[in-house]
Amino acid sequence: MPQAAILLINFNSSLIIPAIEDNLKKKFNLISDLIIPDIDLRNYYSESRDQYYSTKLIEFSLNKYSHYDKILSLTDFDLYVPVLTFVFGEAQLNGKAAIVSAHRLYPEFYGLPQNDELFISRLIKEINHELGHTYGLRHCLDFQCVMHSSSNVDEIDIKAEDFCESCRLKIR
Ligand SMILES: [Zn+2]
Ligand SMILES: [Zn+2]
Repeated sequence: MPQAAILLINFNSSLIIPAIEDNLKKKFNLISDLIIPDIDLRNYYSESRDQYYSTKLIEFSLNKYSHYDKILSLTDFDLYVPVLTFVFGEAQLNGKAAIVSAHRLYPEFYGLPQNDELFISRLIKEINHELGHTYGLRHCLDFQCVMHSSSNVDEIDIKAEDFCESCRLKIR
């Protein structure tokens, strides 16, 4: 079975990790190792934005963990790329590495009460979306497909955790 590294980079919702591992096994046939990487976070931080640079974190994960088939980084830090105010995540198209930020997936971020079920569902969707890119999938027009692009949480909440039929076939 292909192996995935799950890198926990200041990711504090450890209770939901079993659900994430289970999802990787069921959706992508991946067995995962949990890793807390030794990383000097100052190199990835932008003081003016108070955010972390997702592309650089992906590079870090590839430099150190390329012996894995897939590398998924999870973080509670807010992520950015220079042209956008924030990103929920980033991935290499047809590559190994993906990163997902939980920062803006917590209902509390929007001043709403804690809702673990909603949070987990959002996180699983974003993980499936970013990993989908690593399997070569591009954005899908089907608004219920997990590969539909989302620029805010409402758009994440509309879509399903699953791939549409056509995206699923492309992964195989
Ligand atoms: Zn995408
Ligand atoms: Zn699709």
